[in-house]
Amino acid sequence: MSIRPIVKYGHPALHSPSAHVTSIDLEIAALVDDMVATMYAAPGIGLAAPQIAVPLRVIVIDLSVGEDRGQLIKLVNPEIVEKEGEQRHEEGCLSVPGYGATPVRPARVTVRGLDLEGNERVYTATELLARAFCHEIDHVDGLLFVDRLSPLKRDLLKRKLRKRARNDDWEE
Ligand SMILES: [Zn+2]
Repeated sequence: MSIRPIVKYGHPALHSPSAHVTSIDLEIAALVDDMVATMYAAPGIGLAAPQIAVPLRVIVIDLSVGEDRGQLIKLVNPEIVEKEGEQRHEEGCLSVPGYGATPVRPARVTVRGLDLEGNERVYTATELLARAFCHEIDHVDGLLFVDRLSPLKRDLLKRKLRKRARNDDWEE
């Protein structure tokens, strides 16, 4: 298990859709272990494989950040199959450090995916867990929370991010 570098805004893996996982093998299991270690080390409540430059549809979420392993979710090929309502809360992203914004998210989502044994798992989530699912599934679709803002806010934030990407202190 190792902690991998988290890529930042502007890295190509973050801005295009990731590939479906076709077989859940030992490599995927090792990837998920590394993702969990990386998420806890950051620390963060969620991580998607493209954030460590692996363009595959794999996400991990743990709202307790390792305090309660019962809350750890590992999902392969996740998709939102149902959503309803709206909620707005400040979000941040390990790939966009130092910036927060408030995208509109569904109040309730039903998410389907596969666990590491290849079994289908279905989650119904509200509040923070719903936002975390949407945020991480956006990542495997090549979207950042920045892309979910109103055009005006998005342009302002992207200008700041591009400016910072040119600075030396951008790379960690
Ligand atoms: Zn993120």
